[in-house]
Formats: sequence, structure tokens, C-alpha cells
Amino acid sequence: MAPSRKIPVAILGATGTVGQRMIELLANHPWFEIAALTGSDRTVGRPYGELVNWKLNDAPPPAIARMIVQPSDSPLDVGIALSALPTDVARTVEPLWAEQVAVCSNASTYRMASDIPLIVPEVNPDHIGMIERQRSERGWKGCLVTNPNCASIGIVMALRPLHDAFGIEKMHVATLQAISGAGYPGVASLDIVDNIIPNIGDGSEEAKIESEPLKLLGSLSDGRMIPASAIISAQVTRVPVVDGHTALLSIKFARRPDPIDAIDALVAFRAPEIVRNLPSAPEFPVIVRSEWDRPQPRRDRDAGRGMSASVGRIRPCPLLDLRMVVLAHNTIRGAAGGALLNAELLVAEGIVS
Ligand code: NAP
Repeated sequence: MAPSRKIPVAILGATGTVGQRMIELLANHPWFEIAALTGSDRTVGRPYGELVNWKLNDAPPPAIARMIVQPSDSPLDVGIALSALPTDVARTVEPLWAEQVAVCSNASTYRMASDIPLIVPEVNPDHIGMIERQRSERGWKGCLVTNPNCASIGIVMALRPLHDAFGIEKMHVATLQAISGAGYPGVASLDIVDNIIPNIGDGSEEAKIESEPLKLLGSLSDGRMIPASAIISAQVTRVPVVDGHTALLSIKFARRPDPIDAIDALVAFRAPEIVRNLPSAPEFPVIVRSEWDRPQPRRDRDAGRGMSASVGRIRPCPLLDLRMVVLAHNTIRGAAGGALLNAELLVAEGIVS
């Protein structure tokens, strides 16, 4: 399964919040090596270390700091491109790369397109089967795979075992989303300190959370996606937390479970074997907390090296069937780590060699 030598990887949009996380996660990666970094006109042609506004701990590795930033719209000879481009830029740039290269994207642009897989490897690795149709219809030698919105990822990791066991019919979700989800510089400090903002973007965040989990929990038939038929109602907020998105769920099931049965299903949840053996896969996709006051962003966002979703406060709901709290690290599990795990899945499945 592991490649015989390291696969060269380009990071598109390497200077931003997600791009920096990608660099951090790729340091000493057993399968991949960073071969190129791209940016905008603001940064192209300059050494990465001189221009990046590094927001993570320590500093970029010296070899990375010396790399010259390349234009994003000129595909390079690499095996994989991890994209952290803004949505509008991704629209034209990602297909250019996908003609030759496997692109794993964080951008929302193509997530819901009928021939583009939206993948969380622990949840729906079989959706990678859409790539065959994508390649034949678009004439690409590469491919384009996306990972979901940073709030949808943690939610759907908790929903997968519950949907399989009890069938989800309806869900209300309220999110408390971290500032880093807005990229850098993100939300002005005068707006977010001592405050909560009861919307994100232009309202599109709620639409993403209401639609993406249905594609992720859907099934594939002849290379075509049949979405799950549940109804989701979402309300989003931006809160003064640096990293870690929290989601408060209330769920109606086809077969109402006792909380203990839901807990058992979540505790027993494991990724398929091919995913469990990927370098970035957490040992436990879902970690169930039994304390009265967990999960919390500061204490639980780094669970499973930032790749596990933490679930707690699983209890009856007087309105629907069950309530619970889900938390996941938005720039690791919800973005850079999610794209990296998708890239590893492409290698394990032989789509990239
Ligand atoms: P960000 O901090 O604003 O970074 C954006 C990156 O894109 C920078 O590297 C920037 O390069 C580059 N860029 C901007 N305009 C460009 C252009 N015209 N041509 C080429 N490159 C350009 O954003 P982010 O938070 O990292 O998010 C990146 C993507 O991931 C977005 O699509 C976002 O929606 C998605 N996402 C983010 C999160 C999160 O938690 N932050 C989670 C999931 C998904 P320069 O520095 O050179 O301008």
C-alpha cells in the first residue's frame, strides 16, 4: 500500500491558514514530500519564509522557508496537489491541475458537483468510485476530490455510525465556530472579542451544513450519487475560540435509540481497514466523552492529533430523539488533515502511484 518512494506534492494557497497547516502536517510525512508552494500575485517569486505570516508554533521548516512561491494557475509536474485556495480562485485553477494531477481540495466550489467526490475517508471511502466517471467525462488524467466544510466534517463523523444503526430522519444543528475558520486575518478583533456573531459569510455556511452531510451519507450507484434523504436545519455562529468547531445536535431517528445504544454505536465505530492504515488516520475516528462538561475546544480539539471528532452529552431530547455535542479541529480534521487523508486514500487505492 505504501508508495516505494515519496510522492511530490504541491500546496496551492500555501501561505494561508489551511496552507500553513498542510506544511506542518507534511513535515516528516512517510509518503509525501513538499515539491512546490503556490500563492497569489502578492507572493509569487519570493522565498516562502520571507513573506509568510506564520501563525502556527515554531517556524516553517528551513527547506520550506527557502522555497520560491510559484503561481497557482500553472500546473507543475507533481503527483498530488493539496488545494487551500479561496473558492473563487479554485473555480478556474483546480480543474487546470486536475487535467494532469490528483487534486485534493478544501474549497467549497466543487463539493456538490455530481461527478466530484466529497469524501471523509472514515465515512464514505467508496465514493472514490466517482473518479472513473469524472475522468471519462472530463477527459482528465488526474482527478478532483473534495473534503467537506470544516463544521460538516465533525458532524458527519458522529452521524455515520448513528445513521447506519438507527437511520437519521431529521436533525437540528447549532454550531459554535472558531475564528480560524475564517482564514487570516479573518474576523476583526473588535467584532469577535467579547462577542458572538450569529451568522457566517452570506448565509452559505448554513446551506453547506444542511446539504453536505446528505451527500457524504449517500450511496453510489453506477458512479452516481444518491444522497441520504434526511432533513437538516442548521444555525451557525462565530465564537471567540481560536481553533475547534463545536456543534450541538438534536436528532430524530427512524428507530429511536436509547442513549446507551447510541453511545455503543459511536464507541464501536472504526474506519474500514484500508483507511485505518493510512498515516494520518486517527486510531479512533470518534472519541466519546462521558464527563458532564465535555467536549471543549481547548481541551479536546487535539484528540487523535487533531483528526478525531469528540462527542459528549449524549442524552434524550424532548423535542426529537437524542441530543449530543460534537467537536473537531477545524483547520486539521476540518481542512488540511482532511485533504491529506483523502490524498493518502488515493494512494492506498492505487489512483495515485
Ligand atoms: P486564507 O487564510 O485566506 O488563505 C488563502 C490562500 O489562497 C493564501 O495562500 C493566498 O495566497 C491564496 N490566494 C488568495 N488569492 C489568490 C489568487 N487570486 N490566486 C492564487 N492564490 C490566491 O484562507 P484559508 O482559511 O486557508 O482557506 C483556504 C480554503 O480552504 C478556502 O477555500 C476555505 O473556504 C477552505 N477551508 C478553510 C477552513 C478553515 O478552517 N480555515 C476549513 C475548511 C475549508 P497569498 O498569501 O499569496 O495571497
